Amino acid sequence: MSRQKVIRCAACAGRIKPQHPHIGVEDLETGVEFSYHARASCQKRCVEETVTRLEAGKVFAAHHYHSSRCPDEAPGFGCAADCFDTPMAVAN
Ligand SMILES: [Zn+2]
Ligand SMILES: [Zn+2]
Repeated sequence: MSRQKVIRCAACAGRIKPQHPHIGVEDLETGVEFSYHARASCQKRCVEETVTRLEAGKVFAAHHYHSSRCPDEAPGFGCAADCFDTPMAVAN
């Protein structure tokens, strides 16, 4: 059994399986990364918290971690495996 780091969602405190899609928001100053589930409710919290942190003068890089089964080589929203719920805010 390989020992992997437990990732917890900063929005709901639930565990995120590393092979499942999730979002990481990395504080470029400290290297600390906040992780969030790919589901819409956790993404919403992610956006809200990131805006708050940005307002505090911090700099972040967002990472989209796709499912281990995702074939997409250029990760992002709308990938081939539908890893991420599409945030309602971007509906046109
Ligand atoms: Zn969550
Ligand atoms: Zn994907």
